[in-house]
Amino acid sequence: MRPVTLCFSGLDPSGGAGLQADIETIAALGGHAAVVASALTIQDSQRVYGFQLTDPELMQTQASYVLADLPVACIKLGMLGSAQAVAAVFKSLQSYRHLPVVMDPVLAANSGGALAQDDLRGAILKVLPLLAVITPNSLEARALAACDDLDKAVAKLTAAGATTIWLKGGHEAGDALINRLYCQGQLVLETSQTRLSGEFHGSGCTLAAALAAGLAAGMSLNQAAIKAEAFVLQALQQADRAHPEGQFLPRRVPLNPYSFSV
Ligand code: PLP
Repeated sequence: MRPVTLCFSGLDPSGGAGLQADIETIAALGGHAAVVASALTIQDSQRVYGFQLTDPELMQTQASYVLADLPVACIKLGMLGSAQAVAAVFKSLQSYRHLPVVMDPVLAANSGGALAQDDLRGAILKVLPLLAVITPNSLEARALAACDDLDKAVAKLTAAGATTIWLKGGHEAGDALINRLYCQGQLVLETSQTRLSGEFHGSGCTLAAALAAGLAAGMSLNQAAIKAEAFVLQALQQADRAHPEGQFLPRRVPLNPYSFSV
């Protein structure tokens, strides 16, 4: 069986982010994505109009059957939306504590629209010790730590139990996009690449899913992070958009000999 990653993620009907990003990324990297649908969102490539969270008990039941049936090797958490959902996720993982959990702490879409209730932040802080990696962008790190200074935010999240933090610099100013990987509060990897112009929908989901796929395949954290960045860069370089005001939608799935446009 291909390495299986179980994702808890929401549906983005524009197809740029959320569970579609997870499925496409993990499949493109040679893995298999199993997905618990945690939310239905209402959004297009320009903005978020609303969302409806899945009943936590239903989520827990979805997860239990898949965990009992498939050889899940990694868990990837995306949009959860509420403290109740976080509780349901970790209840369903109670007998699977050996599995690495990658959390993309989704609070809002890249377009700025909220994708979570107010109680999510506190719930995430409580489960930090249970995560293998948390992958906040700089806005999310500041919001979670309630602290504007990024170094201090990393220190605060570490003190709250986060062992590994992959801090994404996509929202910071400057020509270079710098991502930093911290283990136990120490910087262990820093990557820098030229910033692409334009706004991208689902870049964070894609990066976290690629990291999870690598961990599911048995790669080390550093290896999986480097590979995930290369994958995202390629998907963003090939992205397209339908609307001049809209965000670019990453192209994660490579063409194959049966594609219409080969
Ligand atoms: N999950 C869902 C369902 C979303 O709709 C979004 C953003 O629109 C995200 C996660 C986060 O997306 P990004 O990767 O752009 O931060």
